[in-house]
Amino acid sequence: MSLDRSKTDLDLGLKIRRYLQERGVETPLLPQSSDNTTQIDAIIPHVEAILTTLGLDLRDDSLRETPKRVASMFINEMFWGLESANFPKITAVDNKMGYDEMVIEKNIVVQSVCEHHLVMIDGYAHVAYIPNRKVLGLSKLNRVVEYFARRPQIQERLTEQVFYTLEHILETSDIAVMIQAKHYCVKARGVEDINCETITSKLGGCFKTDANSRNEFLTLIRI
Ligand SMILES: [Zn+2]
Repeated sequence: MSLDRSKTDLDLGLKIRRYLQERGVETPLLPQSSDNTTQIDAIIPHVEAILTTLGLDLRDDSLRETPKRVASMFINEMFWGLESANFPKITAVDNKMGYDEMVIEKNIVVQSVCEHHLVMIDGYAHVAYIPNRKVLGLSKLNRVVEYFARRPQIQERLTEQVFYTLEHILETSDIAVMIQAKHYCVKARGVEDINCETITSKLGGCFKTDANSRNEFLTLIRI
């Protein structure tokens, strides 16, 4: 999914940022000052410097536009989740029908980038909650995962950010988030283990205290 700028909510993004900061799980961030075009223009010469230092001749027509393409991809495609202004518009609605069973969205695609090596993290998130007073449109769970995936990340923090964001929006701690992903920094470099997957989870409320809820979640995401 790409960013749809007509469906974003700066106010909610700022509230979520504060909520995550209070819990110590927000990404370390500098105050944002420049707009996207200024950011892209600032990144281009640095990409040029890296490629030139590697010995590539950027006068070649295949390489000429690479610095600009990379800078634009960073800002517009890979890392737009760093900006509160891009937080998805999410309206939790009152749970009028009193639904009180588990809602699960599984196999939500996670495409992120590891903040230690800037290479790909590729996997799935499984998210569940038991509605209290509020319910969400299902695609909103995907949107929350995607927003936090579109930043340099570590999987543990990504898991916590999704959890606490949903806790804030849904006004309940009965939430479970599990992420399973392949890290290309493990697969393609370092120990070069191609089949290794990393699994992280954050369980709250009844998912933490009640073995039945936890087992139901684990069983359903395995189907
Ligand atoms: Zn890494």
